[in-house]
Amino acid sequence: MNQNKIILYPSNWLYNSGVVGFLRVLEYKKFKIEELISLGKSVILDRCAIKESYCRIFEYHENILKEKFAIWGKNKRYPNYIQTGQKDFFKNHYIPALQKVEKNKDKKCSWCEGYFIPQNELVELKKAFNGDFSNFMEQREKFQGIHFAGLGAAITEIPNSFWNLNNSTPICHLCSYFVIFNHLAFIKTSEGEIFINAPDFKLIWDLNKFAEEVLQKSKEYEIRKIFGSSLLQWAIKRRALLGAWTMMNIEVVVKKWHKEEKRWIIDYFDLPEERTKILLDNKIANLIERIDEERIFDLILTGKFSELEKANYFVLKTILKLKNSEKISENDPIRKYFKKLDLIYLQKISNILPQLYIKILEKIRR
Ligand SMILES: [Zn+2]
Repeated sequence: MNQNKIILYPSNWLYNSGVVGFLRVLEYKKFKIEELISLGKSVILDRCAIKESYCRIFEYHENILKEKFAIWGKNKRYPNYIQTGQKDFFKNHYIPALQKVEKNKDKKCSWCEGYFIPQNELVELKKAFNGDFSNFMEQREKFQGIHFAGLGAAITEIPNSFWNLNNSTPICHLCSYFVIFNHLAFIKTSEGEIFINAPDFKLIWDLNKFAEEVLQKSKEYEIRKIFGSSLLQWAIKRRALLGAWTMMNIEVVVKKWHKEEKRWIIDYFDLPEERTKILLDNKIANLIERIDEERIFDLILTGKFSELEKANYFVLKTILKLKNSEKISENDPIRKYFKKLDLIYLQKISNILPQLYIKILEKIRR
């Protein structure tokens, strides 16, 4: 294995969102991300990416988010992650040392394989540090709520299958660095900020990109629809098969700011397994896309599959009416299913709907 690379495997959502935020910063300004990163099920990272990401995280906030970002002293996102006086030390000494992380047989990380700054580097770091160095380093080896603006509290309260956390979970130096990127992976929606998590980094990257594209169409889409559309787009564009275990572990992490209590509330959303399976099927996804009608998509998202048969019945009736130049009344049942009521479109639909229904039934039976 190339000594210069670090391999990151998917872990819990906080870690994954940290890595995705980190990738976003690297991707910013069309930076040659592929030279530093290889993005697959796992992420293979060139060590220089660490320093690059630290320079760019501030630029990214200023230019893209129009926000002044800080990790020192009192700040909005990561209060006291470091102290104001440690700013230069962190940039000029700590970050370069962080590029040299390696596995340590005596220390463990609860999130990843464990990447720690080597002992000889720590000796050098200590020389450059002003104050209680061991206390400073201790903070980089524990996940503590206080460092992450209310997020810690929200996390400890909610059980999650990936999550195994107590008040101070041991983490490694690299993980404690990735944490400060996690907010960048979240996408704003009308129901809170979301991050689509999965046990595969390329899949996470794609699904969240597709979710952002869906939101370009309407900011008001509910999470169910954003998530469903994102799965659908993945099936259409990637044409790959996912293992059952991977499919079962795709979920949306929803982060809402509780104004009165001044802390984040974390919630999870997922679709029943059979619906995820349906949306991730390339053939089914293409049929849904060709129908291009939100109301039909909603039926599938809410699992009302048998309504597709009903819808088709009304499509056929409407085709007859249109052929006979009959007017379609305002309360005609077809309007429950379709907005567009022209003959050519409905004829096309009358071909697709039965196919779609059969494909869905096949998928569920399996
Ligand atoms: Zn770690």
